[in-house]
Amino acid sequence: MMSKKRLQGFRAAFIHYAGVAHHSDEIAGQFRYLPDGLLLIADGKVVSLTPWDDGNNVPEGCEFTDYQGRLILPGFIDTHIHFPQTEMIAAYGEQLLEWLEKYTFPVESKYGDSEYASAMAAFFIRQLFSHGTTTALVFASVHPQSVNALFLEAQKYAMRIIAGKVMMDRHVPEALLEDPAESARQTRQLIERWHGKGRLGYAITPRFVPTSSPALLEQAGVLRREYPDVWMQTHLSENIREIEWVSELFPEHDNYLGVYDHYQLTGKRSVFAHCIHLQDKEWTCLQQTGSSVAFCPSSNLFLGSGLFKLSAAKARKIPVGIGTDVGAGTSFSLLRTLGDAYKVQQLQSYKLNACEAFYHATLGGAHALDLDSVIGNFAPGKEADFIVVDLTATPLQKLRCSGSTDILDKLFVLMTLGDERNITHTWVNGECVWTQGETEENDHAIFA
Ligand SMILES: [Zn+2]
Repeated sequence: MMSKKRLQGFRAAFIHYAGVAHHSDEIAGQFRYLPDGLLLIADGKVVSLTPWDDGNNVPEGCEFTDYQGRLILPGFIDTHIHFPQTEMIAAYGEQLLEWLEKYTFPVESKYGDSEYASAMAAFFIRQLFSHGTTTALVFASVHPQSVNALFLEAQKYAMRIIAGKVMMDRHVPEALLEDPAESARQTRQLIERWHGKGRLGYAITPRFVPTSSPALLEQAGVLRREYPDVWMQTHLSENIREIEWVSELFPEHDNYLGVYDHYQLTGKRSVFAHCIHLQDKEWTCLQQTGSSVAFCPSSNLFLGSGLFKLSAAKARKIPVGIGTDVGAGTSFSLLRTLGDAYKVQQLQSYKLNACEAFYHATLGGAHALDLDSVIGNFAPGKEADFIVVDLTATPLQKLRCSGSTDILDKLFVLMTLGDERNITHTWVNGECVWTQGETEENDHAIFA
């Protein structure tokens, strides 16, 4: 016997984007705002989003939640974040290479302990939810245990998450070193165990060129060809000294991206974080291979790395997602990160408007991950990941928004003054996974 579908309905204001776009005016054309709407979902998938119509809206047998006065938008998508750097966020005083040596590697060393990794995975996923993030592309540590811990936790919520164990075989402390064959063997096992299981996806994850020998990159390329629907994530052109180091290590390649491209690590489902100091040739390579970029403004400011040229990516129609890059980024909040994105673009005379900014944090991020057919907006059939937002969560936000009737103005205030206090509920796969104000023992147990 067929089980009856579970139907749920939500009344609120809604924003989302009807389709993929690149330039600011095209994105504006895809923007949809319903001041009073009804979202219907069944078995975790969107059925419809329609204007509220008094009297004949809510179907019989529907579980109805009234969020009037609130704004619902698709869950945020974080396209670059490091799970085993959660506890080292806000580490003082260094730029990329010294920061890795001094703070990052010692902390990541702890994730070989499964129990510790599991406790941190629970904390990490709660942080994502409480900040309104429903999908993330995540770096784990070098240890397979860290990936297992993260996926086991995400699985409890049927969360759509992509992650991979970091691959690195040189220029890291002894305890984190691996050899290329072992790294590939562990990666293959993790792909077999997790990729495509429910909503989980695997990403082949060479940390970056300086910690990769030619043999390791070769292995990553082999895996990529063996599993063509698996993702690839890495770092590219973040810091000037890093770029100089890459040219010393691989003098036969005329630029940084040329190294990844040589090992066939570019292409659709390849996501390169940062991309700050790219040469024209590298931009062209990203475009021609269909690769994506994760723009991480908070991290780029914090480590003094530089300013990402969003206009250059737009000119070439390269998909761009937003990354918090915790622990170099200073918040799990995509709202705060959009606020930083605006400032980074201001320094380059590019006006990042709210319509465009929220696109990159939702459907644009989904597009950058090649997931726009399943998440990112409220089109029928999409997976029901969404957040409920209070646009005036603080006295200052209330003051600023009083008298404002323009949704885009309110969204600009949200990305400039907003943060996790604005997120009242987070829904994943049709279930409420987080409600503001509910205390979570686990969130505090870590510090005991
Ligand atoms: Zn990173």
